[in-house]
Amino acid sequence: MNLIAPAPDRTSAFLHPFSDLGSLQQDGPSVMTEGDGIYVRDESGKRYIEGNSGLWNAVLGFSDSRLADAASEQYRRLPAYHAFFGRVPETSARLARRLVDIAPVPMARVFFANSGSEANDTVVKMLWMLARAEGRPQRRKLLSRRGAYHGTTVMGTSLTGKDYVRAFGLPPEGVIFLTCPHYWREGRAGESEADFLDRLVAELEQTIVREGADTIAGMIAEPIMGAGGVIPPVAGYFAAIQPVLRRHHIPLVADEVISGFGRTGSLWGSQTYGVEPDLIIASKCITAGYFPMSAVMVSAEFDDRLTAASQEFGEFPHGFTTGAHPVGCAIALTVLDILLNRGVLDHLAGIIPAFQSRLRSFAGHPLIGEARGVGLMGALDVVADKPTKAPFPSDFEVGERIAKAAFRRGLIIRPLGNSVIFAPPFIMTRSEIDTMFDIVQATLDEVLEGLRA
Ligand code: PMP
Repeated sequence: MNLIAPAPDRTSAFLHPFSDLGSLQQDGPSVMTEGDGIYVRDESGKRYIEGNSGLWNAVLGFSDSRLADAASEQYRRLPAYHAFFGRVPETSARLARRLVDIAPVPMARVFFANSGSEANDTVVKMLWMLARAEGRPQRRKLLSRRGAYHGTTVMGTSLTGKDYVRAFGLPPEGVIFLTCPHYWREGRAGESEADFLDRLVAELEQTIVREGADTIAGMIAEPIMGAGGVIPPVAGYFAAIQPVLRRHHIPLVADEVISGFGRTGSLWGSQTYGVEPDLIIASKCITAGYFPMSAVMVSAEFDDRLTAASQEFGEFPHGFTTGAHPVGCAIALTVLDILLNRGVLDHLAGIIPAFQSRLRSFAGHPLIGEARGVGLMGALDVVADKPTKAPFPSDFEVGERIAKAAFRRGLIIRPLGNSVIFAPPFIMTRSEIDTMFDIVQATLDEVLEGLRA
């Protein structure tokens, strides 16, 4: 044993997800120790506004004791149980009923997993199992969109329309990416919004015909893209693509991991954008981030087919040890009660106009090409040249610079490519919204000055 080696740093054993591992070795991580309302505190005692609710999920902030109490009560009653072999924790069955009752379109049943990624994998396995049971084993291809984010399991990554998935030699064959429905960035010179939409619909139709409708298991879409940079679809998008999917009998999966439970201003993103999905995936806000949990909701028609398919294979051979965890479900029931019955969604409706108006006022800033968003989510897209929308070179890491400068000023926002994004907790007050955007203003001015220098 080497007795003179220096004691390893206390954080050096921690392997970080989605982080620059090289620069972390030099700079070290930010170590967070406490939360209070919309704020988190690091170990030096410095306080930050959490402008992204953590990872979109801590919508009730970081000190809601009602959720701690719900967890504690469930921990004392039935602290752990599963839902395999026809058993179910009573709390978990109640949550399934509650979710069916508030679903944006009629839904029959809910399957629980631990993360958004697992929920997406679950859906793909359901689709593939149905295809095999119904004598169409070739129905395996999946439609997604460039810019989409669907998670980090092998299928979650494969459905994600971002360049980094190449790091894993993904996606596999059979995942087909359609154009990102972002008019500002993807619309061609002289193309109207309506023409852009027509082009997307034609692309979908041609893709289905080219691949063969009977080889496609389903299409997955976020009602509004989140980690792609908060990208609301071009107006009329879902109303236009859904008839095409229906005509070809291709089920639509709404990935509501971010948009579920109020983020877009309606309870569901599907309501905000007119999505009529066959399956819905929810996570994140379902427990306000206080417990890992996700849900897959299936329509009655889908449920009947799944039941028939499970006869074929003897059972539904899929599930996670801690899916439907009773503590997560107790927290989720309390979150829903707080959102729907204790005025949080009403409060949210009251603050959204202030949030959107401050956000959109940055469209006039020399660095900002587009200020976009819906509900309590938004993005500022940074450009090097406003008329041509030319972005800064990627090695400039302009989003990163802005997020770092904001961090120094006590605000956590997230850089995503050329944009920075906002998704604060629903409990934010109007004056906290002003404080947040005042920091953004000072930050953008500081970064602009630095660039000019
Ligand atoms: N789908 C969407 C739309 C997401 O935003 C995310 C996470 N940001 C996921 C799936 C994956 O969820 P998780 O990280 O819980 O696996």
